[in-house]
Amino acid sequence: MLYRKVEKNGDELSVLGYGAMRLPSKNGRTDEERSIKQIRYAIDHGVNYIDTAIAYMNEPLVGRALQDGYREKVKIATKLPPWNVKNKEDIENVFKVQLENFNIEYIDYYMLHGLHATNWKKMIELDVLTFLDRIKKAGKIKNAGFSFHGDKDTFKEIVDSYDWDFCMIQYNYLDEENQAGTEGLKYAAQKGLGIIVMEPFRGGNLTRAIPPEVQEIWDKSEVKRTPAEWALRWVLNHPEVTCVLSGMNEEEHIEENLKIADEAVPNSLSKEELDIIGQVRDKYRELMKIGCTGCRYCMPCPSGVDIAKCFEMYDSSKIFPSNKIETQIMYALSLGVIHGKPAYASNCTKCGKCERHCPQELPIMDLLDDVSGDMEGVITKIFPPIFKTYLRFDKYRTDRRARNM
Ligand code: SF4
Ligand code: SF4
Repeated sequence: MLYRKVEKNGDELSVLGYGAMRLPSKNGRTDEERSIKQIRYAIDHGVNYIDTAIAYMNEPLVGRALQDGYREKVKIATKLPPWNVKNKEDIENVFKVQLENFNIEYIDYYMLHGLHATNWKKMIELDVLTFLDRIKKAGKIKNAGFSFHGDKDTFKEIVDSYDWDFCMIQYNYLDEENQAGTEGLKYAAQKGLGIIVMEPFRGGNLTRAIPPEVQEIWDKSEVKRTPAEWALRWVLNHPEVTCVLSGMNEEEHIEENLKIADEAVPNSLSKEELDIIGQVRDKYRELMKIGCTGCRYCMPCPSGVDIAKCFEMYDSSKIFPSNKIETQIMYALSLGVIHGKPAYASNCTKCGKCERHCPQELPIMDLLDDVSGDMEGVITKIFPPIFKTYLRFDKYRTDRRARNM
């Protein structure tokens, strides 16, 4: 296992982190025995960073996996959900419950979960930075950070707003320009933040159901690798990246990732290898229906439409059609619930403001009609209310537990 140093605190993190968002399941429930075995196996082979979140509903399980001497071998990372806190007391309550979930005295890496312009504003209004200062001084967390899903300007604004130790960004060879992107990666790295990368496989899309046109390019490479290895090697080729998370719920994936993590030295990919990845990237872009670059010059939209996100999800559903239902559910949850205010394509009132700012000269209003026709319907009607009800119930349960502590 290779390790990379976090400049801010000197921690040596394994280049491969264990992403606990998608643990193995059996009969529709998390398979606890297998999950614990897998987590411990990864730690026994050098992984020392475990990432979860209260929203993944498995903090207690991860806590149990880290009993029997494993807790001392790893850094635990978890997150505060901005979408499920309304006031300062809620923030305190969630944190108290999280410590109890893991049954630990402190959290090593604590993040504000999934920041973007809207929920960042809410976090500032709730004075979350003072809260982070306080729990850090009290030794309840060792490092403060945030995970991010917004635009580049907001990313830089957040990086500059606090003495963060680390951040977590979505990064893969298709998302160099999206969200924080390469620009954000370099910006945070030159400020000394540890950088944890999530979604190296774009939610599994870069490793499952590979389009034949893409497979043809991989096949012609002299160096033979699986699509997963190409994707991980590309992320870890960046010296700015500290650790990449992989949601490893199959034993063979763990083995493969551990092997890659033994070899992925920064700047080790040759010009020819980078060229093959570049060809694959271009092919995926060619397969995209819309071709939005995610620059976000068209935003903000006065009606709240997250134009770039709508196009990104629509394109994903076209390139990776086998995952269409999953993408539609993600569209409903991320734009209908997590975002704060609904940001669906159908919210467009056709004011025309955005089209004047698009360097690609995309007919945004017409394209949004295509997106809403294709992505919205029964799923956007059913899932958000169910999820909101669940969040209310979860908040009630958290408040009650915190009161009884
Ligand atoms: S045309 Fe639609 S998407 Fe564009 S700015 Fe106006 S309301 Fe927003
Ligand atoms: S300005 Fe154009 S290319 Fe940029 S995010 Fe908006 S629609 Fe996409």
